[in-house]
Amino acid sequence: MLTRAAALEEIAGQRFEVVVIGGGITGAGVALDAASRGYSVALLERGDYAIGTSSRSSKMIHGGLRYLQNFDLGLVREALLERQLLVQLAPHLVYPTPFVVPSFAEERRDRRLGIGLNMYDVMATTRVGRSRREMRSSKQEDEDFYWSPDRHRTIDRDELLELVPSLEPRDPGDAYLFYDCQTDDVRLVFTILGEAERFGAVMLNGVEVTEVLLRGGRAVGVAAVEAESGERFEVEAENVVNATGVWADRIGPELTEEEDIPRIAPSRGTHLLLDRDDLSTGSAACIVPAGEDRHIFALPWYGRTLVGTTDNDFDGDIDHPHPGGADIEYLLDAVNAFFGTELSRADLVGAYAGVRPLISTGDPKKSVDISRKAELYETSSGMLTITGGKLTTWRRMAKQTVDRLVEREGREAPCHTAEIPLGMEARPEDLEAPEGVGEESVAQLAFRYGHAARAVLDLARADARLAEPIVPGRPDLLAEVTIAARLEQARCVADVLLRRTRLGLLAAPQLRDAAAARPVADALGAELGWSRRRVKREAEAWLGAAAEAGIDAAAPVDSAA
Ligand SMILES: Cc1cc2nc3c(=O)[nH]c(=O)nc-3n(C[C@H](O)[C@H](O)[C@H](O)COP(=O)(O)OP(=O)(O)OC[C@H]3O[C@@H](n4cnc5c(N)ncnc54)[C@H](O)[C@@H]3O)c2cc1C
Repeated sequence: MLTRAAALEEIAGQRFEVVVIGGGITGAGVALDAASRGYSVALLERGDYAIGTSSRSSKMIHGGLRYLQNFDLGLVREALLERQLLVQLAPHLVYPTPFVVPSFAEERRDRRLGIGLNMYDVMATTRVGRSRREMRSSKQEDEDFYWSPDRHRTIDRDELLELVPSLEPRDPGDAYLFYDCQTDDVRLVFTILGEAERFGAVMLNGVEVTEVLLRGGRAVGVAAVEAESGERFEVEAENVVNATGVWADRIGPELTEEEDIPRIAPSRGTHLLLDRDDLSTGSAACIVPAGEDRHIFALPWYGRTLVGTTDNDFDGDIDHPHPGGADIEYLLDAVNAFFGTELSRADLVGAYAGVRPLISTGDPKKSVDISRKAELYETSSGMLTITGGKLTTWRRMAKQTVDRLVEREGREAPCHTAEIPLGMEARPEDLEAPEGVGEESVAQLAFRYGHAARAVLDLARADARLAEPIVPGRPDLLAEVTIAARLEQARCVADVLLRRTRLGLLAAPQLRDAAAARPVADALGAELGWSRRRVKREAEAWLGAAAEAGIDAAAPVDSAA
């Protein structure tokens, strides 16, 4: 990615065919789709890339088994096809995980779930609608080129305990086993942005769009304010795309006058992270009952166990959603009952909350029942707003948006994103580790950056200090901080600890004081030309950012803020 200074120069006062507001997964997808169809594109992000909902998901690339209950069949089918495609396009970053639904001695397996899983299998196949002969002839081709999940099956107690040994004390019976996929949501956003830049899109974070410029009632650009200097600048654009997720109804005063606009019904979801010594799901993910016919997940993620999520209407501050106290208790109660553990807040290594950009339909449905379908709106100014949807369906949302641009301009410009690889895969064994960098770090770098991991390793090779871990005992390297500042427009410690790496979520108690954040501030300062005083201030500012995100739910109350 260009540096911020270079990107600002390329964007301020310039003219583009498309300006995208918002640097979450949706905005990144629109930037990639439009740029790869030949449009000149600028993307403006108010805070940091993925700082909104796109860093706060359950990190699943999935069809959403749960939505079958609501008969949202179109959405599930669409998401399952995207899941399959994403494993092909970003094999280093999107990986299948076995999910288990165990039954216990006194219970029988839930037959409704069996039926649901059958539907999930059928909907996941790319072969729907093909004749037997077509299926036979394309089978070899599919197997060579496409990952496709095995069908769900029933596994016996022994196989279940091999996958999830920690369930032994609960004396489980057999279980359903099926597959879904996992990722790092933020790294997926960065990977898409990286590809968008390859096609010529220019991206800038730390710039808030404050106005949609109108001429003769038509949207002709945006005005934005740069966070550090406070300077206002304008960008002319033939097309303005609003991809601001849960903030979508706050963009452009003209929007509020329109009848046909999205009304966002925010819903908060809380997640918890636990040490695998305290709670392990082995090599699988577990679906955990959580009362009133609801379920939560316990997933292996970055060597920790991720537990989530809740889904409740939210009328709090959508800029800084906190993990709710009652939500934390609810999630802990569910995992304690399921695994027979006695975990409490004090055991949490991290927590976070995100707000879903659900679209209100006007009827008083609960957030859990509102569809996750994306909606595209076009107001009389010509501005397009794309919101709702899921992390998994970003590519379809982007296609839908850019298809509309192409259609209204009468261009011949088909969508290519189903064929554009996202980053380049690298296997850990292909990466050469310098002295002092362990296997775990190399595997994590290969997952996070693919082939670009070589740039991190080269830095670590050239400077032994950068081969050190950011947090003792965790595999993330200080060289990643340098890369974040040089190539990913990181501006502060929180950009690195919450998004470029996920250490803030995975090791919050270890990052409780400014001294622990100091190595990150030092490495950023070396790249960004900070004075010693600024470095100290930035390390201290991390504490405020961590408190604002509520990641350290285990902290004693007075320091948890
Ligand atoms: C708890 C939870 C769990 C989820 N789990 C999953 C899951 O496992 N799988 C899945 O597929 N989906 C999941 N989702 C849904 C998914 O995360 C979202 O649909 C997706 O991330 C939304 O992305 P977005 O880009 O539309 O919004 P955002 O990521 O919120 O991006 C909008 C961006 O716009 C920026 N912005 C706002 N105002 C301005 C402005 N004035 N100027 C410039 N920029 C601005 C914001 O800073 C933000 O970065 C989950 C959601 C939640 C809340």
